[in-house]
Formats: sequence, C-alpha cells, structure tokens
Amino acid sequence: MKDTINITQVKESRIGSVDFDNIPFGKILSDHMFIADFKDGEWQDLRIVPVENLSLNPANMALHYGQSIFEGMKASINSEGVPLLFRPEMHAKRMNASASRMCMPTIPEEMFIRAVTEIVKLEKNWIPTKVGSALYIRPFMFAMDEFIGVAPSATFRFIILTLPVGPYYNKPVKLLADERFVRAAKGGVGEAKTAGNYAASMLPMKMARENGYDQILWLDARYRKFLQEVGTMNIFFVIDGKVVTPLTDGAILKGITRDSIITLLGDMGYEVDIRPITIDELIDAYDAGMLQEVFGSGTAAVISNVSTIKYKDKVIELDESNFVLSQMIKEKINLLRNGTIEDPYGWVVPIEESVSVS
Ligand SMILES: *Cc1c(COP(=O)(O)O)cnc(C)c1O
Repeated sequence: MKDTINITQVKESRIGSVDFDNIPFGKILSDHMFIADFKDGEWQDLRIVPVENLSLNPANMALHYGQSIFEGMKASINSEGVPLLFRPEMHAKRMNASASRMCMPTIPEEMFIRAVTEIVKLEKNWIPTKVGSALYIRPFMFAMDEFIGVAPSATFRFIILTLPVGPYYNKPVKLLADERFVRAAKGGVGEAKTAGNYAASMLPMKMARENGYDQILWLDARYRKFLQEVGTMNIFFVIDGKVVTPLTDGAILKGITRDSIITLLGDMGYEVDIRPITIDELIDAYDAGMLQEVFGSGTAAVISNVSTIKYKDKVIELDESNFVLSQMIKEKINLLRNGTIEDPYGWVVPIEESVSVS
C-alpha cells in the first residue's frame, strides 16, 4: 500500500552515547527519522530510516525561494512507560494552515498523526523521563523541485525528526521593543511557521543581544504600538489581577501553548482578556504599579518569565519571584503533559502497545 510506513532500523543505536542528565537543546537527534515524498499529486514512499544526510540538487527551490514550513511538538512518557503526545491534531491542523499559506500540499491529518505516532513508538527509549524534559518532535516540509525561477514547487519532502530535550530551567528573559523592525504584517505570512519568518528575525535579535537583551518584543507593522509576540513565543501580561494576551489578527502565530493557557486559566476562574494591547498601555500599567507578570508561552520552554522590557528610554523591570500565575500554569501544563494529573480536555494522547517492526 502507498501509505504503509516501511521501517529500516539502525544497526546500532547511538543512545548509549547520550548523557540524559545534560542534554543540549536542539543538538541530539534520535536514531531514526520519518520521511514521505509528495510526487504526482500525492504523498508516497512513507518510511522510517536511520538519520542520515540528505542529498539535494543545488537548484533545490526551498534553498532559493523558501517554500519551507515546520512544527514543534513534544512527547512525554508516563509512569507506566506509555508515550504521550500533547494535542497532536492541533499541530497537524497548524502544519496544514502553514502549508496552505505557503502554496504547499497539505498532509492528511491521519497520516501526520500516524507518522508522529510511529516515529515516537520506535524512539520510545529516547523519551527522557525527568519532569519537564521531553522528546521534542520537529515535523517539517520543503520544496523538492529543481528549478531556478520563482514558482510553486510540484514536489515536496516531509520529514519528522525527534530530539530528547532536558528540563528547561530558563532564566527570565529581557525583551527589547524596537520600533525600527517588524516581524509580520496583516496579509503576510506571520501566522505560518515558515522558515523565512525566523531568518528575518535574526538581525534584529542579534542587535538586541549586543545591547544586553535576549529577544525582540515585536510591535505591529502599521502603528508600531501594538504588542505581538516574542521569538517563538506568544506573550501574556497580568495587569491588576487580569490576564491579557494579544488578539491573533493574522500577524501573530497561533500558539497551541497559548490556546492551552487561555483554556486552563478560564477554567480556573481567571479572566483572560484577548484583545489588542499597546506598549503605552503596558507602560502606564507598570507606572501605576499594576503590571504584575509578563511571560511568554511556547512548546519549547512552556513558559518563560520576562524580567525586563525596554522601549525607547523606558525600562520596565519585574521580579519573577512575585509571579504567581506563570509558575502555576507551567506546572499544570507539565503535569498534564506527562500524565501525572488527569486530563479532562482530551489533549494528552497515549501511544498504546509497543511497535511491531518489520
Ligand atoms: C511556534 C511559535 C509560537 C508558539 O507556538 P506553540 O504552539 O505554543 O509552540 C509562537 N510564536 C511563534 C512565532 C512561533 O513560531
């Protein structure tokens, strides 16, 4: 069958060489990867193979014109040794939203989830067990046509990598709201997880780093006032006991962690205001002593507290030891993800029984 996943296993696993107490983020790939090719209008040749270098024609269109998208999700393992995925269907849907915007073929949700399930099953031993750690899953798709000219490719490759990642004890981040730079405008590709968005952020981020900041707090393209998001994180503010997060308006990535946080906070009885918010409103709240917490949300870190926001000559300083909601939400999501607390939402999807390898 065309959509059967053929599995070729490594002769010898590399897992013995990995120090699971000290995993550098994003550098250690597991033994295998999933690959599928889009040709003649359909996905075919679904396979899991040992991780190895790709061979690409120098005229590969993804390299020149950037038809390239990705996802980032996580698998955990519960105390019974059952791997757990977190909201995989949301990642499948967002992958397809990105694909549609970038004029790339969608992936049947069933195929996406089956592919993720099979690779995670096979790499079960690579899922770290420490609280807060996980197997990071990186599905991505890119153009495969060989052509020097701007046009949509007709062939594509879909790959899934998996990487063990340690608990992310990140220190609070310092943000620079720099009105010279823009990440995304309405009508553009800001809602797509497409490679070029991150390429475009590198120079502003490097300049922010040189001035002692970790990331840019992006302002909207038109007014350079409305707060958007940070790096690969959405942003939340706690003002006078109320949680505020920017409305996704076409220029902000629709984070799945953001969505989970909005749901969890709402169910815990907190008011969450999803609306446009300006840097001026934030500064006014700070000056009035009402800005209590600022934190970013994303799959990689779950929550990153923000200690500093600089805008023009104004510096907002916050002490994360006073943050209550961010800590509570981070714990709750981590406990949900690893199956320690019951999941009333159907977000946590167990991968039952072990893999049968051909
Ligand atoms: C991936 C990403 C996020 C966070 O999304 P999650 O689904 O929560 O991981 C936020 N902003 C940008 C720009 C991103 O790429």
